[in-house]
Amino acid sequence: MMSQPADLLLRHLRLASPDGVQSVDLAVTAGRWSHVGAPGSYAGAAAATYDAGGALALPGLIDVHTHFREPGGEHKGTYASESRAAAAGGVTTVLTMPNTKPFTNSRATLDRVRELARDSLIDVGFQFMADGTNLAEMEAVAGTVPAFKLYLDRTTGIDSPLADPERLGALLATGLPFVAHAEGDTLDSLLNLHRRYGTGWLHIGHVALAREVEALRAARAAGQDVSGEASPHHLFLDEDDARRLGALGDMRPTLKSAADVAGLWAGLADGTLEAIATDHAPHLLAEKQGDPPPPGVPGLQTMLPLLLDAVAAGRLDLPALVRLTSAWPAQRFRLADKGAVRVGSHADLVLVDPNARVTITNEEQLTKPGWTPFAGRQVRGRVLRTLRRGAWVYADGQTVGAGGGEEVRVAP
Ligand SMILES: [Zn+2]
Repeated sequence: MMSQPADLLLRHLRLASPDGVQSVDLAVTAGRWSHVGAPGSYAGAAAATYDAGGALALPGLIDVHTHFREPGGEHKGTYASESRAAAAGGVTTVLTMPNTKPFTNSRATLDRVRELARDSLIDVGFQFMADGTNLAEMEAVAGTVPAFKLYLDRTTGIDSPLADPERLGALLATGLPFVAHAEGDTLDSLLNLHRRYGTGWLHIGHVALAREVEALRAARAAGQDVSGEASPHHLFLDEDDARRLGALGDMRPTLKSAADVAGLWAGLADGTLEAIATDHAPHLLAEKQGDPPPPGVPGLQTMLPLLLDAVAAGRLDLPALVRLTSAWPAQRFRLADKGAVRVGSHADLVLVDPNARVTITNEEQLTKPGWTPFAGRQVRGRVLRTLRRGAWVYADGQTVGAGGGEEVRVAP
């Protein structure tokens, strides 16, 4: 029996999970689900009730690949600004990348990033840079960060530890969890090193080429503990769009051929690619119009509408969408209490209208630069409301509140 009233009762939801879609009522107490059951099954009292009117709900999305630009790039984006874009996109947890200024490769910088992240409206975890020289710093933060990031292509001005294969092999032999930016031949070299020296999990960010999907498929078939993610821009845009968009369609990896896009979708379908993550990387329009324009595009607010549109078009089903955007990221990155709607886990949820026909515009983008490469695109699917740890952070076209996001705990 519930003696204490719930903080919030959500009624008349259709909840999507990796197992299917079910009608449910949900109750929240102190930021966590305290009841998950059939419609009408909650017998206790509640301080507030929200009737969702049969709306479709998904676990709050977890985006394991974002650039929030603090410290050092505040004019492009901050924890405050980019977390609002996330909330409007149904994303309740992000992992942010360490190519900040200075790089997040030391305890001191990580402490500073943790302070800055208190401005976030949604929950945050941090990927810590593995630069080949900072193993002691890595070991000091191991267990508190979900992954260590390897930049193995020269796209961000970071010296690649792959220049010294022995050094990279030694890193892979630590058994720490790694995420890599590694394209084409670089990916082949990395997978070879992982086969020889690796003792832990290796995840490949923004897989973009069909041959990279094939390389991952072969490595997995050989028993390597490797996985990969795809980014919405590589799933929904190709090199024809790159020509149309110019700098606004330029990122690393670049947009690829239609055959590569098909290869990514096949990789999602057969489980070779296990996550979808935005690589949200805001730059001001003025910077994009400069010479040379910096690579990277925003993506947090548009990911879920694009994926709902893919569901409407029959390219993806809802259970797969949930698996790719919350269940698998939470489980594999060991994000405690995340990624599932069950009693005791954090009350992170997004309500959507999968039938709404929407035209994506620059004007509604909350990312600091205020543009998207998907402007003008018509999709079926709209985010209605977003709940983070039991608090509404987005409702009816507006973000709600400021700050309040917490750091995700890494499960042992
Ligand atoms: Zn990135």
